[in-house]
Amino acid sequence: MRARTIDHDQVRALHAENLTVPQIKARVGGSPAYLRLIIKGKVGIKPTNISRQSALSLAGRPAKIPAFDTSAIVEGRTVYRSTVVDPGSYGFDVLKSGFNSSKIGKAVTKGRWKGFPIYTLTLEERATCPLSCRHWRSCYGNSMQHAHRLARGAALEARLEQEVRALGRRHRRGFVVRLHVLGDFYSVAYVALWQRLLAEVPQLHVFGFSARWDAERDPIAAALVRLVLAKWNRFAIRFSDAPIDECSTVSVETPLQAPAEAIVCPQQLGRTVACATCGLCWQSKRPVAFITH
Ligand code: SF4
Repeated sequence: MRARTIDHDQVRALHAENLTVPQIKARVGGSPAYLRLIIKGKVGIKPTNISRQSALSLAGRPAKIPAFDTSAIVEGRTVYRSTVVDPGSYGFDVLKSGFNSSKIGKAVTKGRWKGFPIYTLTLEERATCPLSCRHWRSCYGNSMQHAHRLARGAALEARLEQEVRALGRRHRRGFVVRLHVLGDFYSVAYVALWQRLLAEVPQLHVFGFSARWDAERDPIAAALVRLVLAKWNRFAIRFSDAPIDECSTVSVETPLQAPAEAIVCPQQLGRTVACATCGLCWQSKRPVAFITH
């Protein structure tokens, strides 16, 4: 297969930084029309660099898993250190429009959250995740070399307070935050921040996934489980690979392995374009099966 010359992820990342199409063209080349198609997610994702060490590709992406003794895996951090940014000095919004992610989408088109714009938050993978995560090595972030990862801590939480309140004023009917494109709930205080924002910003709706479900051993998980149980209608966080019948996900190697009670993510099967056009994760409590990548 011939490698493409324009990196679609880089184009979307530059667009997320508010660069204009001519500015993006100056950085990566290509025609303005083609760049606009990439930004709108109308051009398929294709591999940028398939090495001979890669496993077979999934949806055009090379599947690679770092060795267990590489420093990022041992130290519990991203492979791409330079992409971790300080929220205190970050010159862009920490909550990005879902428009920049073809898998997520700009605004919900069906169901009880119809019409709500979607925003995403990306933290640092592994550095915020429990070691028990089934995808510690196979994290999706391993193939996201251009995503900005917001560093955890007080500066991030201050920015979130500010931006969630501003979004509540801008979108009076409601808006959605997808937690977390990468990363996880990293402290009890951080869970409490979302709890407070849910109480104080009625427009806020959240969906996403967390590997923190072991409430008996992990106090962060205990706080998170309590919040999900109390607020599922507006805080639809599913527990990844958790041994529970509802509000969970299950990882499978092939759709054939999906348990009977689970629904395989329609976006992965090419049956819907994005979360925005699906809504299954917050419309239903049935387990959702994800094909590992
Ligand atoms: S099931 Fe639907 S909402 Fe959930 S991740 Fe897949 S596309 Fe998104």
